[in-house]
Amino acid sequence: MAERSLTLMAVHAHPDDEATSTGGVLARYAAEGVTTVLVTCTDGRCGDGPGGVKPGDPGHDPAAVVAMRQAELEASCAALKVTHLETLGYADSGMMGWPTNDLPGAFWTTPVDEAADRLAELIQRYRPDVVVTYDENGFYGHPDHIQAHRITMAAVAKTDIPAKVYWTTVPLTAFAEFGKIMQEMGVEWAEPDEPQLGLPDEEISTWVDTRAYGGQKFDALATHASQTENIFFLQLGRDRFTELMGMETFVRVRDTTDAPLPEDDLFAGLR
Ligand SMILES: [Zn+2]
Repeated sequence: MAERSLTLMAVHAHPDDEATSTGGVLARYAAEGVTTVLVTCTDGRCGDGPGGVKPGDPGHDPAAVVAMRQAELEASCAALKVTHLETLGYADSGMMGWPTNDLPGAFWTTPVDEAADRLAELIQRYRPDVVVTYDENGFYGHPDHIQAHRITMAAVAKTDIPAKVYWTTVPLTAFAEFGKIMQEMGVEWAEPDEPQLGLPDEEISTWVDTRAYGGQKFDALATHASQTENIFFLQLGRDRFTELMGMETFVRVRDTTDAPLPEDDLFAGLR
């Protein structure tokens, strides 16, 4: 039987999401010989533009933002040694309630079934053993993150290929620690006001230690420094960033391996 490498697919909403929530696992598994596939659903046109110009402000040119963020995404993939980058090219829908939610081509208004068919084709092509995406709230309520969740779950159901599916999450204890460190550093930090953000530690099924790859994760995030919210993390510096962001946590929502929980490896039961 031909040896086929294990494959990880991460489905994300915008250029930069791959770095923040899965930069560690992408780097670690690539280093272990796993084929890594990143699917980025939108073009990020509602992000900050060159020179820090904000969406909605005069001079915010979506085409220029898209070109800049595509280049940043490619640099991030190089930092994380992602094997294959696939972009679906939907228009970034902006934050919930923005008029961009309803523009033609916006990811949020694309029928789930239509976008899921395109993702299902990629799942058929790459045959990932493990798929990672967000929970049903898109982790923090952004419409494109919610839509990424919906199309991923639909595409997994259509193809029935991945042995394991995970949703990214953050332990509540990590949020608390993060707030403390930010305060120590004198960085403006608003506690997330969404009560459903993050999970109690005992509800987290999967804890992957990616601290050895913290430098790569930091470098990947640094490629997206045009986006103000990322500068925030970069202020931590490489070592503190690794300390704070080096453990990546997930909830396992599909499994055909019966690997016992909690587990410390997305591929537990597969090798
Ligand atoms: Zn995003």
